[in-house]
Amino acid sequence: MFDVVISGAGPAGSRCAQVLAEQGYEVALIERDVTWRKPCGGAVSSRIFRYYPQMRKENFYPITGTAIYSGDYHKIEYSWKGIRNYSINVDRLEFDNFIRNVAIDAGAHLFDKNLAIDFITKDKRKIGIKARTPEGTKEYLGKILVVADGMSSKLAPKTGLRNKWQIEEIGLAKCAILEGENNLDKDSISFFFRKYKGYGWIFPLDNNRFNIGCGTWLDGNLNKNLNQAYQEFTNDPFIKKFFPKTHYKEIWKGAYPLPGLGVKEKCLYGDNLLMIGDAAGFVSPISGEGIHSSIVSGNAAGEIARNALNQGDVSNESLKKYKRYPNIKKIIRNFKMKVSIVEFLFEKEGQNLSKMLELAETDESISEEIINMFLSNSPPSKELLLKIQT
Ligand SMILES: Cc1cc2nc3c(=O)[nH]c(=O)nc-3n(C[C@H](O)[C@H](O)[C@H](O)COP(=O)(O)OP(=O)(O)OC[C@H]3O[C@@H](n4cnc5c(N)ncnc54)[C@H](O)[C@@H]3O)c2cc1C
Repeated sequence: MFDVVISGAGPAGSRCAQVLAEQGYEVALIERDVTWRKPCGGAVSSRIFRYYPQMRKENFYPITGTAIYSGDYHKIEYSWKGIRNYSINVDRLEFDNFIRNVAIDAGAHLFDKNLAIDFITKDKRKIGIKARTPEGTKEYLGKILVVADGMSSKLAPKTGLRNKWQIEEIGLAKCAILEGENNLDKDSISFFFRKYKGYGWIFPLDNNRFNIGCGTWLDGNLNKNLNQAYQEFTNDPFIKKFFPKTHYKEIWKGAYPLPGLGVKEKCLYGDNLLMIGDAAGFVSPISGEGIHSSIVSGNAAGEIARNALNQGDVSNESLKKYKRYPNIKKIIRNFKMKVSIVEFLFEKEGQNLSKMLELAETDESISEEIINMFLSNSPPSKELLLKIQT
């Protein structure tokens, strides 16, 4: 019997496991496959160093700027070099294993090649997780069960806390890591909003390698085929300007969904149950950034589970403190605001976004406001919204 059984050793699950194992709790961390590279842009905010200060010593690629383009290529740029900490661009295979190993070093028990398929139920109570392994089915019993296995979670819809994802509430994205000579600004990540509901990105990984991708968003998924969107983006003459060579070596490629409407508040906890990371919607509805918020949710859930175990009360009533945890409340509020901004920006085939960036090209205060909206958590002012609409 474990204290806590966690399904999914991605950023959310590994962080949660670490927090609990550091306090001496017995944690089973069930993972489908540690050699899987999660399809992802791999841009990680500098806030990661608060959780993993040791990451500064690793070789993750530093980033100190961003460029944001509208569908018709109005552009704002911002550099935070010398102003605040650098962020990093990572290869998810390396990054996820780094975080996993921190959890293992703290004492968590990792069970690789274990596909969580269902809960074990006794007297209508979920008492463990069942996993399919190469050796047959295994059962992991725990006092608290944590769903952290991302968008493909088989457990999440079986919690009774939420339904399966609907196509209009998610993003769909495809990306690749390519290698070859390019004209990218190596200090900066670039976002390219599209005229349809979606965006593309190019994130350098070193002098020669970069992550390039494109996605469709919410009801945009119904109108645009993902492969076609990716083809159009990578063959767009504006994008091609960054890539003078005719051939780029493909190191890896993948496609995957991501939550699009912010945190699903009703699915966060139940009796001896917690849901964290992508499985619970911890992804920014404007940028698709979810690594940091998933780690925040894993951290908060770990602390709440630890207190519940200390007090011997793992009920719904005790675990609801997770939703009230200050950082979680902040994320929920912030993502709600971003959902409404996204709707506004994509109105009229992205014309509002285009107008906003056009205004910013000649007005530094607007540019600053937009950067704060994308990178921090400030909503746009009424004045700016009015200017965009006139
Ligand atoms: C194309 C794309 C680009 C993105 N780009 C960025 C970006 O640049 N920056 C950013 O911050 N965020 C980005 N995101 C979002 C980010 O990838 C996620 O928010 C983040 O990975 C969530 O972490 P997680 O631990 O909740 O889930 P995941 O990272 O999905 O981890 C889940 C883990 O569970 C395992 N698992 C799954 N099913 C099972 C099962 N049944 N049994 C056992 N284990 C299982 C998986 O193998 C995985 O290790 C992107 C997402 C996509 C799809």
